Amino acid sequence: MSELEDARENLREALKSIGKEEYYRRLKSPERFVEVNFPVKLDSGKTKMFKGYRSQHSTLRGPAKGGIRFSENVTEDEVKALSIWMSLKCAVAGLPFGGGKGGVAVDTGELSKSEEERLSRRYIDSVAELIGENKDIPAPDMNTSARHMAWMMDEYSQDERELKPAVITGKPVELFGSKGRKEATGYGAAYIIEDIMERENLEDPTAAVQGFGNAAAPAVRKLEEIGVKVVAVSDSSGTAYDENGLDHSNLVECRRDHGEVCLAGERLEPEEVLELDVDFLVPGAIAGVINKENVERVKADYIVEIANGPTTREADKVLEEKGIEMVPDILANSGGVTASYYEWVQNRTGEYWKKEEVLEKLKKSLQEAYRQFEDVRKEKELYGREAAYVIAAKKLVSSSESME
Ligand code: GLU
Repeated sequence: MSELEDARENLREALKSIGKEEYYRRLKSPERFVEVNFPVKLDSGKTKMFKGYRSQHSTLRGPAKGGIRFSENVTEDEVKALSIWMSLKCAVAGLPFGGGKGGVAVDTGELSKSEEERLSRRYIDSVAELIGENKDIPAPDMNTSARHMAWMMDEYSQDERELKPAVITGKPVELFGSKGRKEATGYGAAYIIEDIMERENLEDPTAAVQGFGNAAAPAVRKLEEIGVKVVAVSDSSGTAYDENGLDHSNLVECRRDHGEVCLAGERLEPEEVLELDVDFLVPGAIAGVINKENVERVKADYIVEIANGPTTREADKVLEEKGIEMVPDILANSGGVTASYYEWVQNRTGEYWKKEEVLEKLKKSLQEAYRQFEDVRKEKELYGREAAYVIAAKKLVSSSESME
């Protein structure tokens, strides 16, 4: 099954379990979906065509919100699935946003910095009619960063003949971004893990983290700070393993000096990271990595998903049978969009907050969302993903019903 089929099936089941299956027809497809094809001038002087998308899944709870990814694997269905997850994520996190997502099919490794800049500007020009601070607010996602957001904000503002910082979040702090936004996705997941540790009285817990990018690397740092021993880290460049715990700054240095994470400890095959006997398995890179091929070998007690869609629906069934606790992406990685909300608020009020203030709010908000989730999960005896989907589905439905 594809990500889109998985997302739809999970949503359908959640709606059914709250007795609102009739909403499935409304929520299975985006309210609006646009494909754009645009030329970008390469450094060689030649022009290349690129294909991009923007999906606005739902604006029931507020303007559409969600990132823009640059990846070779971007497809229409992937962007649609990701936009469904954003609607659910914003609902679970209690944010006044709907869900959106965009993407461009491109291998950024093949582009120079100036080509990436032109691509970013052309993409945002192509979807400019759709976006706006009260319509649809993009943000970073896979292979896009604060710099891309700065280019896009600048381009959009030039078109509007007016500075429009609130049209996009995840911008550089120097250019109307929010302090703490960069760390927020990873820290958010770590705050949830901290809550679990306290509730369950876990002593010296261990974690294995897949990914060491924008989202996962700050999680490693925070996990270390709160007393979780991160025994393994992997990313596309390699893996690091040390049963006594890896050191975040060591990992960062190694990657900076050698271009890979694998030199910080013993080598493991990347797939072995997912199969370690740890308290917390944190998939923080790409979709579909826990699937029917390897799920039987997963031994962690908890899975805390920082990536979007790292576990397939088929694998979920097995994890549930095995009694492995699931803190799903739409809750566990909602720290990023929560800090984006703070950025949007700061842009609109013109009042900027200290980093401690942002992180304090973030922690409170994430831990509150996690506790609500725990209550529903326990009360209704649901698997983690189902509980989060039920919470989101209820909120979406009640927003609609409040207009009836
Ligand atoms: N791309 C991130 C996500 O998938 C952040 C979205 C945002 O900040 O709007 O949650």
